[in-house]
Amino acid sequence: MASRATVTCPDCALHETFDRLAAARSLIETHREETDHEAIWELGRLSSGVERAGDEAGVCGRPECATDSPLSDVPNTVTDE
Ligand SMILES: [Zn+2]
Repeated sequence: MASRATVTCPDCALHETFDRLAAARSLIETHREETDHEAIWELGRLSSGVERAGDEAGVCGRPECATDSPLSDVPNTVTDE
C-alpha cells in the first residue's frame, strides 16, 4: 500500500511513513508527549480528488490544523461559502 503520510521531526531524526492518517497523528502526539518536539506530517500519494477535497475543506495537513479538521473526515461535498 502506498504511504499516505510521512511524519518527520525538525528537532530529531524521526522519520516514519504511515498508510493511516490516524496512526501518523498518534505518533505526533506521542512524540510531543515524550520529547516535547513538534513533529510534522506531510501527506503524499492521495488521489487528486482527495487532495482537491482536502484543499477546499481548508485542510492543510499541519497537525495544529488537523486537530480541528480530521483528515479522516474529509467531506465528499464541500459547501460554497
Ligand atoms: Zn523529535
